[in-house]
Amino acid sequence: MQKKNLGKTGWSVSIISFGAIKLPRISLKECEPLLNRALDSGINYIDTADCYGDSEEKIGQVLKKRRKEFYLSTKVDERDGPGVRAKLDRCLRRLQTEWIDLLFFHDVRGGEYERIFNTGGLEELLKAQKKGEITHLGISIHNNLTMMRQAVESGVFSVLMVAYSALDEDRLTADLLPLAASRGVGLVAMKPLAGGRLGNMPPRGWNKSLFQGESPAQIALRYVLSNPHITCAIPGMMALNELEENLRVGKTPRKLSAEEIKEFMAMAAEAGKGFCRNCGYCLPCPEGISIPDVFRYESYYRNYGLEGWAKEQYRVLTPDAQACSDCQTCLDRCPYGVSIPSNLKKAHNLLMGQ
Ligand code: SF4
Ligand code: SF4
Repeated sequence: MQKKNLGKTGWSVSIISFGAIKLPRISLKECEPLLNRALDSGINYIDTADCYGDSEEKIGQVLKKRRKEFYLSTKVDERDGPGVRAKLDRCLRRLQTEWIDLLFFHDVRGGEYERIFNTGGLEELLKAQKKGEITHLGISIHNNLTMMRQAVESGVFSVLMVAYSALDEDRLTADLLPLAASRGVGLVAMKPLAGGRLGNMPPRGWNKSLFQGESPAQIALRYVLSNPHITCAIPGMMALNELEENLRVGKTPRKLSAEEIKEFMAMAAEAGKGFCRNCGYCLPCPEGISIPDVFRYESYYRNYGLEGWAKEQYRVLTPDAQACSDCQTCLDRCPYGVSIPSNLKKAHNLLMGQ
């Protein structure tokens, strides 16, 4: 398995690492061979989050005896001191570990970035770091480039987790990723298959010989890893065949040819039509709806099996998608042809359980 340096952590991390977001969808018995095989095959970094159902508990139960063999990251949604401390205690308990290598402030958005600094969240994690409960701090931000830049420039975070796939074009790559790399901030790519959309591209028309017999998911991962600033991708995995498919990419690195990239990007653009990339270009909405957040919760519900968490998050979102007045302002701004008003209605009905 090829490994790369993860920014100022100095860790050498497997370029294919393990995204544990889908573990709640399988039994503990199924997790055992999957997680053990991942480590046996050279994966040395596992990423989870407090909000990923029972993912932390399963990792703790299966890998507690192998804890020194891998880097472990988890994430907290809280921003204030007491909330962060309570969540950290729960993470340590559920993961059955005495330390977490990398603790992320998860999915930071809106005014939350300032709250990390002003309401004690960061202070609490710095104390935990001194006590040896955490080694490094990270932050995951989904769509706010200005906030990503602020986080990189703050010098506080060792790692930035970004949603990055072949559907993201040059939104991140032009400016932000080189900046992060130059500041020693490690870059971890989440959602490298765009919520499964790239991995599930129909095999019809798939040019097997051009792509050297590899699958769309493998090419999508190679594409992400071809960015020199990205250290690793963390595709979500829940089956041994998925793991083997992903492992091949890490074990046999190769550069995609110009022809492969051209054809793959054309197929990706087709598969991505009408798919929300969470870029935020549609904002501001005159009704104040946070359009990308609505679609992201919908995706967590539909693609990652996080129905409960997605509903919880959506139900505190103010205003919710029902506030849409169908003014259509956002439609011209969306470069990806998302039918925003009608899709908002569908997302609302799904997330409100109607
Ligand atoms: S159509 Fe709806 S979501 Fe789009 S800008 Fe108007 S109110 Fe906002
Ligand atoms: S609806 Fe379109 S513009 Fe808005 S976040 Fe999604 S992809 Fe971007």
